[in-house]
Amino acid sequence: RAKERGKGSYAIFTQAMHHQVRQQLQLETDLRYALKRQELILNYQPIISMTTNRIVGCEALLRWEHKTFGCVSPAKFIPIAEETGLICPLGDWVIEQACIQAKQWESIYQDLPPFISVNLATKQLTQAGIVETIKEILEATKCSPELIKFELTETAIAESTEVAVTTLRKIKDLGIRLCIDDFGTGHSSLSRLSCFPIDTLKIDRSFIKGINASEHQTKIAYAIVKLAQSLGMETIAEGIENLEQFCQLKSWGCELAQGFLMAEPIASETFQEVLNQNLIYPMEC
Ligand code: C2E
Ligand code: MG
Ligand code: MG
Ligand code: MG
Repeated sequence: RAKERGKGSYAIFTQAMHHQVRQQLQLETDLRYALKRQELILNYQPIISMTTNRIVGCEALLRWEHKTFGCVSPAKFIPIAEETGLICPLGDWVIEQACIQAKQWESIYQDLPPFISVNLATKQLTQAGIVETIKEILEATKCSPELIKFELTETAIAESTEVAVTTLRKIKDLGIRLCIDDFGTGHSSLSRLSCFPIDTLKIDRSFIKGINASEHQTKIAYAIVKLAQSLGMETIAEGIENLEQFCQLKSWGCELAQGFLMAEPIASETFQEVLNQNLIYPMEC
């Protein structure tokens, strides 16, 4: 009997596995055409200043509207893009779209044009000709480089070779600002951190979640803000979902805030509507 049951659960297991593998393969195939089929778009999640409570920028987040699966999460397709190398053409497209958008907003909102933060995969950093590509995109779109930030993972820094270090310096020389994403979850060493021309540390959502809930997480979030301050870097907190988290971070001197408490990632037209309202977020601490 036990043997039978064992056999049965094995069958269910393989069926589920089979389904998953098939879907994975399907996504891999379809991702190659997603760009051409115009199934990819960028959404923008507002980033606000903790001093003025106004929008000062946003993060560009990729969305894939698949013809049969519907909206596929970047958590699912970015790893596929990285494994297959598709991340490079995809990433170029993201940078170009972000620059076109930044330029457009720059001409509409001249007094306070929002910056756009763009996620850069580790592979993109070592892609041949990446600096030239970025330079060409900036020239073609006429976008001010100060309006663009690149978000790198800690792993990109930890694993990075001399080539990547040089590349980051060249990107920085173009006038683009650099940010470390999901800070505190990777393996970057503090001594290496100061070797890179980094402007901003982005505290990972897991620590923000723990603020006032876990003493341990709260201490880490606090330590990251203070570390950034002592290195002359700015801090941004991602994943702020309640006012307690916001006010705690603000009291420590964190400069920028991003999270569902303010806004979710939204389409560019919606983002523009929000900008037009010239909103001051009602965050009373
Ligand atoms: P990330 O760069 O750390 O982006 C922040 C993620 O946190 C986004 O998920 C955003 O929707 C989510 N988030 C923001 N605020 C909150 C909050 O208050 N609560 C919760 N629960 N979540 C919040 P998303 O859009 O699903 O993106 C997931 C990841 O996919 C990104 O993490 C990034 O690593 C990757 N990704 C997205 N777009 C791109 C891209 O264009 N290029 C590359 N290389 N990676 C991308
Ligand atoms: Mg990011
Ligand atoms: Mg992040
Ligand atoms: Mg994250």
